[in-house]
Amino acid sequence: MKITNITTTECHIPLRTPFKTALRTVDCVHDLLVRVETDTGAVGHGEAPPTAVITGETLGSLHTAVEEFIAPALQGMEVEDLDAVMTKLDRCLVRNTSAKAAVDMALYDLFAQSCGKPLYKVLGGARNTIETDLTISVNPVPVMVADARAAVEEGFKVLKIKVGKEGLADIPRLKTIREAVGPEVALRVDANQGWTAKQAVRIITALEDAGVEPELVEQPVPAHDIDGLEYITRRVTTPILADESVFSPADAFQILQRHAADMINIKLMKTGGIWQALKICSAAEVYGVECMMGCMLESKLAVSAAAHLAAARSVITRIDLDGPSLCSVDPYTGGPVYEGPRILMNETPGIGITGVPGFEGV
Ligand code: MG
Repeated sequence: MKITNITTTECHIPLRTPFKTALRTVDCVHDLLVRVETDTGAVGHGEAPPTAVITGETLGSLHTAVEEFIAPALQGMEVEDLDAVMTKLDRCLVRNTSAKAAVDMALYDLFAQSCGKPLYKVLGGARNTIETDLTISVNPVPVMVADARAAVEEGFKVLKIKVGKEGLADIPRLKTIREAVGPEVALRVDANQGWTAKQAVRIITALEDAGVEPELVEQPVPAHDIDGLEYITRRVTTPILADESVFSPADAFQILQRHAADMINIKLMKTGGIWQALKICSAAEVYGVECMMGCMLESKLAVSAAAHLAAARSVITRIDLDGPSLCSVDPYTGGPVYEGPRILMNETPGIGITGVPGFEGV
């Protein structure tokens, strides 16, 4: 199965409600889509969001990376020679991890198709259903309470609460949300780098004392502040999850060796795709550290690639793949089915998504 052509287009999908974190506000998914064509007629698809505030990538840079660097480098290579293709993909330009992820997932889509199996089975998994949390955007407290209650009514048992914009005011905010949803709902708190290390210890300790019992606290301090992350991890009992601090397998090793966090959030857009993400899974297994599978603001195509990896690896114990739930429409055909918190994996070959708007007629 030889790579004959790599082309791009864009998707534009409005969100149900604006997505707000300590870093940004977004009201639609406007992503790069990639199609990899082969000499057998099989095609693979991928997607990358321009998450400039996290990966530094823009729609323009995604186009340039794929069209001017990655496509010429991979042209003519055999998909089944996965090690060689992925090594070339990694080395044809540095960083640009989301652009690489879009092509990586399209290649895995093709590789699994060539095996005649769904991707999660090719990756060694047997879980055909996984369960995701739902993100509650950072907003005035009454809005967050209403959003949290609505999510619980939709069947979500785990909520990811975005905070980190107002420092100590996050303590009463989280207490109010805990009281509103009751003790049965797990709350994951994501500060998106919004606190200092000392502030984080004070806030997390106050949450522990108030009985808020967050399941974990994600990326309390800026991405580069590994010392701060370690400082917090040593001083609180609530598990600390590293997100923006971990892009590459090398980043993960640093966190694991220093025990600077209790868990690692793996996102394909940070790692550069499944090939690199698998290395983080293996490293985390060695250290006995559990992982979360997360996503950026992505539509069903990219999220489904992440879902296949999550379904395949038992070290991924927490799933934060709510992108499709946040989108107002699903423009794709096939792939995993998203039913409230449940993601039911497809049994068709590859990632399973066959209809991708913008590429018809190719
Ligand atoms: Mg996060």
